[in-house]
Amino acid sequence: MTKTERTYLDWNATAPLLPAAREAMVAALDLVGNPSSVHGEGRALRMLVEAARRDVAALVGAKPAHVVFTSGATEAANLVLTPDYRMGRTPLAVGRLYVSAIEHPAVREGGRFAAGSVETIPVTRDGVVDLAALETQLSAHDKAAGLPMVAVMLANNETGIVQPVRTAAEIVRRHGGLLVVDAVQAAGRMPVDIAALDADFLILSSHKIGGPKGAGALVTRGEVLMPVPLIRGGGQEKGHRSGTENPAALAGFAAAARAAAEDLTGRNAGIAALRDRIEAGMRQAASDVIVHGAAVERLCNTAFFSLPGLKSETGQIAFDLEGIALSAGSACSSGKVGESHVLTAMGFDAGLGALRVSLGAATGEAEVERFLAAFGRVVARRRRAVDAA
Ligand code: PLP
Repeated sequence: MTKTERTYLDWNATAPLLPAAREAMVAALDLVGNPSSVHGEGRALRMLVEAARRDVAALVGAKPAHVVFTSGATEAANLVLTPDYRMGRTPLAVGRLYVSAIEHPAVREGGRFAAGSVETIPVTRDGVVDLAALETQLSAHDKAAGLPMVAVMLANNETGIVQPVRTAAEIVRRHGGLLVVDAVQAAGRMPVDIAALDADFLILSSHKIGGPKGAGALVTRGEVLMPVPLIRGGGQEKGHRSGTENPAALAGFAAAARAAAEDLTGRNAGIAALRDRIEAGMRQAASDVIVHGAAVERLCNTAFFSLPGLKSETGQIAFDLEGIALSAGSACSSGKVGESHVLTAMGFDAGLGALRVSLGAATGEAEVERFLAAFGRVVARRRRAVDAA
């Protein structure tokens, strides 16, 4: 049996490991020692971890001292989303969490907040956070219970739609709240600067930018206001996240962060051109294809589309058999293909299937051609199924 050539178009689920990240990881694996040890071996690893901190900080315009390494974005979200904060040594309460309806489950679940203290911010039909609703919600916030905390992602993982974080920050400031921004999908795909966004906290993940899975960071605006730790123990990461660091993963994360910061504009122009070819090709083959978010600002690499009559699961399997790896939106839930909470939040029928194609730096013309050829065959089969019905 000949092996089908595979075409990977699921970069928002995870980006392939960059060769530079792999090399940095392999080199780090051979270093002996614990980064917390005071001997020479330990100090060498400490230097590696601190160099990684500088590289990750630089990607988002932050100070290295403001990066707390975690096991990924999900852990960073659970660290930051808590009612219990400290301002220096003084406890500070956060009373309520307001999360946009389109957040990734890592954030939407509300971290350490009780379910009754989490409120959803709606989005418009265009998939953009409804800022008027946010204003109303924060106006009604009862400060007696604590500060309001707002979580709005910078770019959505399913649609790629870029959210008006800077304007959301102005609203949050007016109401004396805290802003958490999930920049997992935006990092390396658009400029991200914590001060320019006026965010208090940013969440990052290594594997979305070409680093290894199982590494991420919570980036903070300062050092004074910090969440009560989620993981306690040996006091690593200045006590904010205990546990021996994983130097190899951090070396890979850092190499990916350096690569992500390089030639962002040039790389994005190439990726956007391929994504636009995909969308134009799909429209030519199926005039009823719906490309979600096409009218608003989106990441250059993402096309989220629906073909009426094609269920997400059927579509995903059909493309997989064609050798194309794409996804039905969020891929994080143990392989199950459910309804898209993002499309539902945008007001679409829950039964409308949708598929996501997401590209990256290694995607080329050949992948686009293979996808469009497969798309043509899937559309033809859908037509035959409708005719036969
Ligand atoms: N936030 C967004 C927007 C994501 O796309 C993902 C992963 O799919 C996560 C958070 C979770 O990241 P991690 O896999 O590092 O826990």
